Amino acid sequence: MHAHMTTDSPDGSPPPWKEVHLAVLATLDALVKSNGWVQTAAAVGIEPIFERVLKQACVGPRVAPESYLDTISREPALRAEIQERLARLAAHPELVSLRRESQRREAEHHLYSLRYVLSGREPPPHVWEAMDEREQAQLRASARSGEERDDEMLPRVERALEKLATDGPWAYGECEDCGVPVLLERLQLIPWAECCAPCQRERQGTPADRPPVVAVMYF
Ligand SMILES: [Zn+2]
Repeated sequence: MHAHMTTDSPDGSPPPWKEVHLAVLATLDALVKSNGWVQTAAAVGIEPIFERVLKQACVGPRVAPESYLDTISREPALRAEIQERLARLAAHPELVSLRRESQRREAEHHLYSLRYVLSGREPPPHVWEAMDEREQAQLRASARSGEERDDEMLPRVERALEKLATDGPWAYGECEDCGVPVLLERLQLIPWAECCAPCQRERQGTPADRPPVVAVMYF
């Protein structure tokens, strides 16, 4: 018989990491049904929550968190049990809605800043006041210089802002050509994007095996 991490100790008692594993699973299961952690997760992500849960679970059995992580990194079935819980935490409706709200604020911030440098029109007070002085000064200088004025870009930014503000025929972040949600990474980079990347390539007639044209970034 060869030694294996998941087998019990020679004296028949379960290995200490198993106690940690069960405690971690139980705590994560309880968290899914509560919401005290949601604000924190919205600010810093799920990972620090998991780290705290693990640290706590390791105290009783006196197992180093690293050694438990080392064990599950080599055991796909155990890893899957953890990942399944973490996926459920990430899908918590309150967390999803907080995340959506913060992504929306981020897009709004980015788009109004762009509109300012593209057209000289100042952002609305709630966006302007959320910026620090340095950012305000940079934007003001850029808007006043007029160097970034761009009449082609401006309508795209205006249109994205309209979508953000209204529940028109197109929701912000939805591809205008195929209707799928545009990847968040793409929206963070190109907040005025009308389409998902494949549809954009199609619009431009760019074959998929060629790298897409990289949009000019202002920030
Ligand atoms: Zn599309």
